[in-house]
Amino acid sequence: MATISLRDEVTELLSALIRLDTVNPPGSETHAAELLRMYLQEAGVECELYAKVPERASLVARIPGGADGKRLLLLSHTDTVLADPAEWSVDPWSGVVRDGEIWGRGALDMKSQVAANAVAIASLAREGFEPNGDLIFAATADEEVGTSDFGLSWLCREHPDAVRADYAINEGGGDRAIVNGRAVYLCATAEKMSSPFLLRVRGRSGHASIPGIADNALVKAARLIERLGTFAPETRLLPETEAFLTTMFGESPSGGEVQDRLRELDGSLAGMVEPMLALTVSPTMIEASQKRNVIPAICDVTCDCRLLPGQSQDEAEEAIRAWLGDEDYELHWIEGVGGTRSSPHTPLWDAIAGWVEREEQGAAVVPVVLPGFTDSHYLREAFGTIAYGFFPMRMMEPEMASRLVHSADERIPVDDLELGTRFMIAISREMLGAR
Ligand SMILES: [Zn+2]
Repeated sequence: MATISLRDEVTELLSALIRLDTVNPPGSETHAAELLRMYLQEAGVECELYAKVPERASLVARIPGGADGKRLLLLSHTDTVLADPAEWSVDPWSGVVRDGEIWGRGALDMKSQVAANAVAIASLAREGFEPNGDLIFAATADEEVGTSDFGLSWLCREHPDAVRADYAINEGGGDRAIVNGRAVYLCATAEKMSSPFLLRVRGRSGHASIPGIADNALVKAARLIERLGTFAPETRLLPETEAFLTTMFGESPSGGEVQDRLRELDGSLAGMVEPMLALTVSPTMIEASQKRNVIPAICDVTCDCRLLPGQSQDEAEEAIRAWLGDEDYELHWIEGVGGTRSSPHTPLWDAIAGWVEREEQGAAVVPVVLPGFTDSHYLREAFGTIAYGFFPMRMMEPEMASRLVHSADERIPVDDLELGTRFMIAISREMLGAR
């Protein structure tokens, strides 16, 4: 490995990771953990595998630092969503390099960052880097499903000392956009809360051949679904959104003006800002009668709902009920996951901003609120970790990247993979200094 360039090293590692099928379910992340252990141990990095069940291991590696130093965690997950080879122009588990891009499931989400983090910590170890606090690498299982508690949620609870960190860099940001002629890199500092709910509509059952004798819950539910389809809650400007808008417009427009100002922008940027402005509701599943000839007495509509960080379910329920008006239904919250944030006024932010400025003159970094959530919320909740989503991408347009994630022909430019690796090395040096 001694003579190989960083670029080739990270490319080879990413290809090898893609060739391991870690589609979740079932995950089988242990294959990836073992590959990474072999790679990291060769560079002299201490590794430990943690597994709730043998086939779902996460790997945690570290270069130990002084006990009083701050700890930086480079976080990633090794599982992927599924891929249907029929939709792809290459084998999704080939990891093939073609036209300067590495192709395969996980190339963006997020084996690229796994590989970049691994090569970063390996190369720092080889050069004898002595951090003043622990530099930690974690490649965890089960992010994409996450409800079965095999990954970071389990690690934070059962092995907190392995993953406790003051700072963490995770997935979810790093896209580069051009705003008013200026390059900005998006850093995900906050996430919306996934807060699905059930609307239960009651009627009266009856034989479907005589509609008049019954009160059809499905028909009643249809009115509510239609109404939810046009749900337009009040815009609320979070500090993160204000910072983002100030970069875009040179000033922060008031809540009422935002929608109008967004129309001045190109579609992808407007689409990015839209979910940062308010809670969203999308009806996605419906259940009514189990028989064609029975009019349902109950209709259940499941709605995906995303709250702004800091927003409560009570508050959201008030807005939803006000919108639905005087109809007869029950609203039951199913759960509330995520919705956490980290301040954008921290040494980690300054380090990222400094790197961006050095990397591209005149470029800025701006905070964004992710519409979905990542594993970052487990760290924020368990340890108060300052966690950001940032993996810089300069070649690939954000629109393209978001089209390819979880989709066919997922791929990453080798240039971006190399950029991400250099970023991880630079940020580790900057945050953990020399002892
Ligand atoms: Zn991911």
